[in-house]
Amino acid sequence: MQAMSDRDDATVAGKIPVGISSCLMGQAVRHDGGHKANCYIMQSLGVHFELRPFCPELAIGLGVPRTPIRLQRNDGARIHCVFVDDDSRDCTDVLQLAADQQIQSQSRLCGYILKQDSPSCGMEKVKVWEGQTPLRDGVGIFARRLMENFPTLPVEEEGRLRDSALRENFIQRVFALSRWREFVANRLSVNGLIDFHARHSLVIMSHDQLQEQKLKQLVAATDESNLTENAEQYLLGFMKVLCVFASRENHLGVLRHVKATLAKQLSGEEESELVEAIEKYRAGRVSVMVPITLLNHFFKKHPNDNIANSWYMNPTPAELQLRGES
Ligand code: SF4
Repeated sequence: MQAMSDRDDATVAGKIPVGISSCLMGQAVRHDGGHKANCYIMQSLGVHFELRPFCPELAIGLGVPRTPIRLQRNDGARIHCVFVDDDSRDCTDVLQLAADQQIQSQSRLCGYILKQDSPSCGMEKVKVWEGQTPLRDGVGIFARRLMENFPTLPVEEEGRLRDSALRENFIQRVFALSRWREFVANRLSVNGLIDFHARHSLVIMSHDQLQEQKLKQLVAATDESNLTENAEQYLLGFMKVLCVFASRENHLGVLRHVKATLAKQLSGEEESELVEAIEKYRAGRVSVMVPITLLNHFFKKHPNDNIANSWYMNPTPAELQLRGES
């Protein structure tokens, strides 16, 4: 079967490895010999992500061009992936195997972008045929197995990335998982976990304050004897909470929390300026980076290590650029 990439283990310096359906990269691998090149992904995300293409249908030996396949449900039973011209030819198991055979090479990925609507790659709402009537309630066979194999991996479809909120959330999760992988690669340790959480606590609070408390308690209960187990649990909780959209209300809670740490150090004028910036964000007139930038300006005069090391207060220029906030 086709290997995912000839650079499976090596990463391009400074870029985050992200898997992608090959046709989105302009590779002519679709059943009709065409492709679905996505310029935004290739040109914008490609600046900071090392996009690693893989086509599961090519990997299982279906050529180009080829007879199309589709999802089919027989009498409400298990969904199969079959050829449109002969539903006795079933490629469900080989597509699942193709996903399993990529486990090692995919284990370094920090995200995956899938082609929507595909019976192999679609992440959701894929047509499932039952008689003459398709229902849009399926998941591509390869995509489903990928998500089962890597439950913490950020996965999105190219169509959903057109939505700014979904796109920003996906980008944030990719960068977060990349930082986790770097932390673990450098050496998993109790102090490292404490530091990782401290640097992400405001990020997590912006998604769900209760879950931030739970993860904090998990970190506090971690010692050498349970480090591996708790780190796995932490990663699951961490990536899950980042899937929850960071609401404006939660961002306001975080901004007020950070502002409170400066309470006695700001002049009346500075305090008013900050209140005004937060109010403008509350009213939807400016992005959250406006009050964050002003807070950082004040923290230059009144240094605070927690703030200086916080990923919420100091996202990388690459992340800001992809989120459209540079
Ligand atoms: S959607 Fe997936 S299986 Fe279909 S051509 Fe693209 S990469 Fe290949």
